[in-house]
Parts: sequence; structure tokens; C-alpha cells
Amino acid sequence: MSQRTPLMAGNWKMNLDHTEATHLMQKLDWTLKDAKHDYSAVEVAVLPPFTDLRTVQTLVEGDKLDIKYGAQDLSPHDSGAYTGDISGAFLAKLGCTYVAVGHSERREGHGETDELLNAKVKAAYKHGLIPILCCGEALEVRKAGGQVAHVLAQIEADLDGLPAEQAKDIVIAYEPIWAIGTGEVATPEDAQEVCEAIRGKLAELYGQELADGVRILYGGSVKSSNVADIMAKPDVDGALVGGASLKAEEFAGIAGFQ
Ligand code: PEP
Repeated sequence: MSQRTPLMAGNWKMNLDHTEATHLMQKLDWTLKDAKHDYSAVEVAVLPPFTDLRTVQTLVEGDKLDIKYGAQDLSPHDSGAYTGDISGAFLAKLGCTYVAVGHSERREGHGETDELLNAKVKAAYKHGLIPILCCGEALEVRKAGGQVAHVLAQIEADLDGLPAEQAKDIVIAYEPIWAIGTGEVATPEDAQEVCEAIRGKLAELYGQELADGVRILYGGSVKSSNVADIMAKPDVDGALVGGASLKAEEFAGIAGFQ
């Protein structure tokens, strides 16, 4: 049995302005409290848009919520002439614990390469943030049976040169692109196949002990109705949740899967 604490992380994507963010955070807190959620058994985090982070910080610190939070992206640079980018230093100052790196909507929609993502992973650590490194294959790759090779190549490139003392804290999210926002959830066996292979790659790069401690999430149309079967797989340690994280009851149901 693994000692890894499951993590349920809600990726709000480009949804909810700061007023709506306040409402969702309050409702999520009440719903989890009503359900007597044990945060030491299942960690809960949200990844709001940048413009909501200050609001979320105020709520979390003011009301002493156990919900953690982070951003959906960061710049590889610390500061300077990078219009529109956000430094990890700013995110750290806003109390972020996590930052997503390499979500497929950034890899595909913004042309983010593994070289850039490697720099972003390193920038996250530099500022004391834990990266949630996303990886996953497109439908054509899966149809050709190339999902494991594809994802392992992403992991190897994105972690290039990352020392073990940093890699030990990383969170990896396996998100098959064909399952994101489509309602098409991967089977628990599909998820396990790739998550197990990712752990194997981490063992090859950093040793089995480190690999056994890293949390690997599954993401792609996770709901309260399918999360338990996915979580029953030995190498799945949580979920990165998009659409379903925008509804407090649904996300709380996912967090309370057991
Ligand atoms: C995501 O955006 O990371 C995601 C998994 O989305 P959804 O849960 O909506 O498929």
C-alpha cells in the first residue's frame, strides 16, 4: 500500500471572475465541511485564473480554509519585458502551493514545447512552487498504440536536468487529450497503464524509492460517479478535474470518493 496522500485538484481553466470565485470557494468549503472531509486523507486544491488568486488567498488565509491553491501556468522568467506573462515569484507571494505546467491546452493552443516546459518546471521550483506537470497523448497516438512512449518522452524531456531533491515533490497529471472535456473518460485500466509507466520512468531516472513517493494524477472527464473506479488503481493518486471542479457539490463528491 502506498503512503501517498491523494490529491484532487480542480483546474478552473478560464472560468469564474473573482466574484464567482468567492462564491465557489465558500460553497466548496461548506460542502466539504458538511461532508466532514478529512483533508489529511485527501488533499484538495484549486487552480483558478490568475485574476482570482488574490481573492482565493484572502479567503483561504482569512477563513483558515484547508483548501490549497495554485495557478494554471507561469513564466520561465523571474521578471522583465515579458508582456502578459506571470512570474512564479508573484505566485509564491500570493501563497500558491501549486502551478500547472504543460496542460494540453497550453501545449497545443500556445505551442508550448518540452524545452519551454522544462524551463517552467525549474522556474516553479526556484520560487518554491510545486509543479503539476501535465502530459498526455492525442487520439491518433492512442489509436496507434503509442500512448506510453509518447507520455514517457514528454516526462523525460520536461524533467531533464531536474535534481532528485526537487523531483521528489513533483505531481504528474496524466491527461489523455481525447478525454479532456469530452465526457470520454479513459478506462481505469487505460489510466493505470500509463500512470504505472510514468512511475517506472521516474524509477529509472531517480530510483524506485523516489518514484514510489510521487503522486500521479489522472485527468479527463473525471466525475463523482467515475472517480472511485479510477482511484482504485494502484498507480493513480488523485485527479486533475476540469469541468466538474466548477460545481462545489460535484467536486466535493470527487474529493470524498472513498
Ligand atoms: C483538465 O482540464 O485538466 C480536465 C481534465 O478537464 P475535464 O475534467 O473537464 O475533462
